[in-house]
Amino acid sequence: MASRVIPVEVFDLVVFGATGDLARRKILPGLYLRFLAGQILPECRIIGAARGELSPGDFREMVAAAIAEFVPPARRQDEAIEGFLDRLCYIAIDATGEIGWSELKREIRGDVIQAFYFSVTPALFGAIAERLRAHDIAGPGARIVVEKPFGHDLASARALNATLARHFDESQIYRIDHYLGKETVQNLMAVRFANILFEPLWKSEYIDHVQITVAETVGVNGRGAYYDKSGAMRDMVQNHIMQLLCLIAMEPPYHFDPDAVRDEKLKVIRALDPVRPEDIVRGQYLAGQGGAGYLEDVESAASRTESYIALKVNISNWRWKGTPFYLRTGKRLRARESEIAITFKEPPHSIFDDHRGWRDNVLVIRLQPDEGINLKVMIKEPGPGGMRLVQVPLDMSFAEALGDAAEDAPDAYERLIMDVIRGNQTLFMRGDEVEAAWAWTDPVIEGWESRGEKPQPYDAGTSGPEDALMLMHRDGRRWREIRA
Ligand code: NAP
Repeated sequence: MASRVIPVEVFDLVVFGATGDLARRKILPGLYLRFLAGQILPECRIIGAARGELSPGDFREMVAAAIAEFVPPARRQDEAIEGFLDRLCYIAIDATGEIGWSELKREIRGDVIQAFYFSVTPALFGAIAERLRAHDIAGPGARIVVEKPFGHDLASARALNATLARHFDESQIYRIDHYLGKETVQNLMAVRFANILFEPLWKSEYIDHVQITVAETVGVNGRGAYYDKSGAMRDMVQNHIMQLLCLIAMEPPYHFDPDAVRDEKLKVIRALDPVRPEDIVRGQYLAGQGGAGYLEDVESAASRTESYIALKVNISNWRWKGTPFYLRTGKRLRARESEIAITFKEPPHSIFDDHRGWRDNVLVIRLQPDEGINLKVMIKEPGPGGMRLVQVPLDMSFAEALGDAAEDAPDAYERLIMDVIRGNQTLFMRGDEVEAAWAWTDPVIEGWESRGEKPQPYDAGTSGPEDALMLMHRDGRRWREIRA
């Protein structure tokens, strides 16, 4: 099945922080791949900006090297790479000074779509937004894209929203959460709202519980100083996992429209109960499996920041009362795996005598690796021996079902940047959503800080602290295995 690519309108995209890690690994290779796919027209331009004094040739070389390093060999095509590099230019700009802004004003076109990607520390968002306005660079339809972290708590997120709102309307602000750009995450919405099968069962009457797991094998990887001020709750739960939870729990929006979807997500966040201390397990990885322990990685023997967290979360509304959501995320775990598992209840009455192999129906949405959706159902075990039951997967792995179309599917950054150009905010967080998420997160963090709680150590290469198992065992449930 070939994928259908519709080119986006002609644009000028300015990438602030164009020489940084994110731009090199994701943004610039992603733009090349969209150019290769024919989605970016030759009239489009990408303007790199950072303080470094790079000649046009230096920047070109840097981007060519990034493509060589981060694009799979099969998709590196010389002619397309040359064509893409011809779309680039570079301007040395200091976000906090006056260097470079007049040049940017001269370079940017007023009659095409303008987008400004702030791939810099959030401390610079305000300075850039202000100068884009002061130098009259951003036209009325301009879009700005801001990276995470969006605030450190409610107060800082509010301050950041207020700063951006002084210069740009909410309809122009794209707060990126790359989890929302994943193919499977959008498929979650398609599965729920384009089929009659699931939605009638999508409630506490039929769903026993939901598990969301985001497991990483890596540690803090040289980002120790940043991570230690943040921790798993701020770095993963407040944003990525919260967004996944919202998509599972939200009511059907009246239309697949940015504000309709985001209104429903916001209602879910507002309906979250405060988390009880006994429903939280925090951990820190120990040295092992060839890596240092968390405390060594962050060079702070007294650190109380968690590299792992598991939580039991309840949603107080008609649909979900009584169905807990168990969330967990951590570093240096057994495998890199992200999935959502929705476990349905047993049928109210069994007409079969065979209960040996009885298992619940589970709908598993895999985000990584091998994106796909898998529904576990009970069937009769083939062959003689009477009515013996066995659980089998109805597997929809995208690569198998969709062939080339799945192989060539854009990754999250590619898709989200194209959505910015199209002016579609559905997969971006709105300011009030981010603030509501912090309003729920802050008291949880304040709670363990005021109780002076230390995270529990856990062995690298495992599925996390022992107590996290208990979080589910005491409810008569268990975590799905993190597969090595
Ligand atoms: P980085 O590697 O430190 O790059 C920062 C970029 O900003 C560089 O190009 C730097 O170039 C430029 N810069 C710094 N100060 C500047 C100034 N005053 N004026 C203009 N440009 C300036 O950071 P990063 O990892 O790419 O992260 C960028 C943003 O994305 C951050 O908000 C980060 O939290 C977020 N993010 C990153 C990742 C990731 O995987 N890296 C993932 C999610 C979110 P010069 O020093 O030459 O100016």
